[in-house]
Amino acid sequence: MRFRELGKTGINVSEIGLGCEFLDRKPASVVDSSLNAALEYGVNLLDVFMPGTEVRENIANALGSRRKDVFIQGHMGSVDINKQYDISRDMPTVKKYFEELLRLFGYIDFGMLFFIDSEDDYKSVFDTDFVTYALQLKRAGDIRHIGFSSHNPVTAMKAIATGVPEMMMFSINPAFDMLPVEQYSLDQMDKKFSGELFRGIDPKRAELYKLCTQKQIGITAMKVLGAGKLLSPDHTPYAKPLTFNQCVHYALSRPSVASVLPGCQSVEEVSAIMNYFKATDEEKDYAEIIGSVRNDFAGNCVYCSHCQPCPVQIDIAAVNKYLDIARLDEANIPPSIRSHYASLNSADCIECGHCEGRCPFGVPIIKNIKDAARILKD
Ligand code: SF4
Ligand code: SF4
Repeated sequence: MRFRELGKTGINVSEIGLGCEFLDRKPASVVDSSLNAALEYGVNLLDVFMPGTEVRENIANALGSRRKDVFIQGHMGSVDINKQYDISRDMPTVKKYFEELLRLFGYIDFGMLFFIDSEDDYKSVFDTDFVTYALQLKRAGDIRHIGFSSHNPVTAMKAIATGVPEMMMFSINPAFDMLPVEQYSLDQMDKKFSGELFRGIDPKRAELYKLCTQKQIGITAMKVLGAGKLLSPDHTPYAKPLTFNQCVHYALSRPSVASVLPGCQSVEEVSAIMNYFKATDEEKDYAEIIGSVRNDFAGNCVYCSHCQPCPVQIDIAAVNKYLDIARLDEANIPPSIRSHYASLNSADCIECGHCEGRCPFGVPIIKNIKDAARILKD
């Protein structure tokens, strides 16, 4: 297992965590064996958004004394009405469900403000007692960090601007990233992804990733497979389906992403996803597939590393990533971005042009390396 720091929380989370949704309504023995398999592979991050008492108890029992070895995302506002997942902003209801999580797990590492997608979601959480409740829980030590979940980049940026959240769970896959922001990603997931909609990475989503890096908001990624549609020949918007490894690698190569949270419901599924760590660079390379759609944002780096190998081992995607963040606000470049940039060897570039010949997106890499040196060196 590999680990990454989750932004300003300073916590090292496993690059692959476990979305526990698929363990809902499974027998306790299945929950126990699946969780044990994940922990044996080094998984230390669990998303427990499900409101049902039984699955929560099964997870708590499966963890037992290893509760302290994992970090749990628990969601405020996730409830079930008539055994259906639902969202509530009614404080007595919100408290009832969240206090059950606290009772079962003792404390919650990441107390998530659940489903901040629309303007109404934003107002009903950040302009009400909802956010006060989260802040009180944090002061009391019941939650260690405040996070939120979202599928909408515009609302997510607004939530980050409040200064309250320290991390975010966000839906990330190449199809969502390329969807114009006016197209709500979850609506598209219910339909067949339509290829005509895709025009390169949506600027609002690119802006969100840059903002997260600038503000050190670590991201945990959900929906990395687009509910399986990106793996399906019938539903992919690309010339051919992506693989699991390509989807995970895509999400992990977005700025600020520390962990992806695929769902598993058996030991076999847990073992299958861990094969990601054995995949070769070629098996993880997604550049040519996502480059097969209309690309109105040609010239922008998607951090795919298809331009490698570089004869002097420059991490070209990283140079572009830090340059993009610096360009967001050149007068206020975070010191951490300068120090990350300083650890790269981009001054060694011999301008051979090999990388530019390989980049499917026409990124002016040599110019970017020079711009980065000008903007980012102390
Ligand atoms: S420069 Fe091109 S090939 Fe290299 S990481 Fe960026 S988009 Fe990918
Ligand atoms: S042009 Fe520079 S960054 Fe690109 S492959 Fe050559 S040495 Fe590496």
